[in-house]
Amino acid sequence: MGKQSLCRVKIMNSGKIDKSVFGEISSFTVAFADEPMHKYTTFRTGGPADILVCPQTPEEIKMALDLATGRGIPYIVIGGGSNLLVSDAGIRGIVIRICADDPGGSIREISAGIIHAGASVKKSDFIDFCLERGYGGIQFMAGIPGVLGGGIVMNAGTTMGSFVSIIKDVEYITWDGRLVSMPVTGDMASYRKFNLPEGAVIAGGTFTLPMSDDPASVRAEIEAIKRDRESKHPLEYPSAGSVFKNPPGHSSWQLIQEAGLKGKRLGGAMISEKHTNFIINVDNATSQDIRDLIELTKEEVYRKVGVELEAEIRMIGDFR
Ligand SMILES: Cc1cc2nc3c(=O)[nH]c(=O)nc-3n(C[C@H](O)[C@H](O)[C@H](O)COP(=O)(O)OP(=O)(O)OC[C@H]3O[C@@H](n4cnc5c(N)ncnc54)[C@H](O)[C@@H]3O)c2cc1C
Repeated sequence: MGKQSLCRVKIMNSGKIDKSVFGEISSFTVAFADEPMHKYTTFRTGGPADILVCPQTPEEIKMALDLATGRGIPYIVIGGGSNLLVSDAGIRGIVIRICADDPGGSIREISAGIIHAGASVKKSDFIDFCLERGYGGIQFMAGIPGVLGGGIVMNAGTTMGSFVSIIKDVEYITWDGRLVSMPVTGDMASYRKFNLPEGAVIAGGTFTLPMSDDPASVRAEIEAIKRDRESKHPLEYPSAGSVFKNPPGHSSWQLIQEAGLKGKRLGGAMISEKHTNFIINVDNATSQDIRDLIELTKEEVYRKVGVELEAEIRMIGDFR
């Protein structure tokens, strides 16, 4: 979805929220009503959102928040949808999708070692931008899908590092429309979690990166990481990456394997044989199939191995 989507607003009576809202969304550059969420999640599942708007500027983010809060309509913000399970019933209210589909989004070098980037910038585009200018410190991001906003919220990363290790200031818009720039300290984030005020919408951030002595080796390292991930992750199927956080002292994939769940299938969802912490959509899975498999995995791992698993993926909407 890019510039060609201008004004592709479908105004429909979903019967779910105040109809006059549909008229107001025509002022957004990109907006849809009753929009299937499977188009925006890497699981390729999820029912319709009442309204989906894709702000192209911080002003449009504020407009979306105004629309929601002014009318008491619930809203949720998403990025690349690579850590999400959206229910088959979809999402009531407004989904604010902050994600540049084509290479793009605002990104610029402010001074040596300081990069400013918008929340909608894809991680892969951020990496390319930094590599072209000779920076290092971004290797942890290699192969992680989605955009910077989602990466910050999830404090995404690997054993090599995570977003909190490179972000200097985070910019967010409060539920009542104020743009705040907050200096980041290490204690603001933990494993797959960044502590932000309730309802905050990340608009962007400033990153500090070290200049590399050997940019070619950083590039080579990133390519090697991507190849390694391709060999270990079932990238040929839709998924949302690791389903569960690693409990202290354990690896979730190992616990799931020990519980005998490798290849376990429910409906169209399956625990990957290649990486047992991935649930993959092998055959038109519903979100409920995936949710049921998540619950079954938690129960079986606890029953057989005695460790409680906690989901890393975020679930939105109503499940059975
Ligand atoms: C194949 C695969 C491999 C993966 N590997 C990794 C990995 O190695 N490490 C890792 O950490 N993760 C991994 N993931 C999970 C996922 O890619 C990351 O969590 C990613 O950072 C999510 O980014 P996103 O833009 O897709 O966010 P989304 O999935 O769209 O959203 C994630 C969360 O952030 C919130 N959110 C998104 N944008 C904003 C915003 N602008 N303001 C406020 N809230 C917002 C959403 O509401 C949601 O709660 C993987 C996923 C896949 C599919």
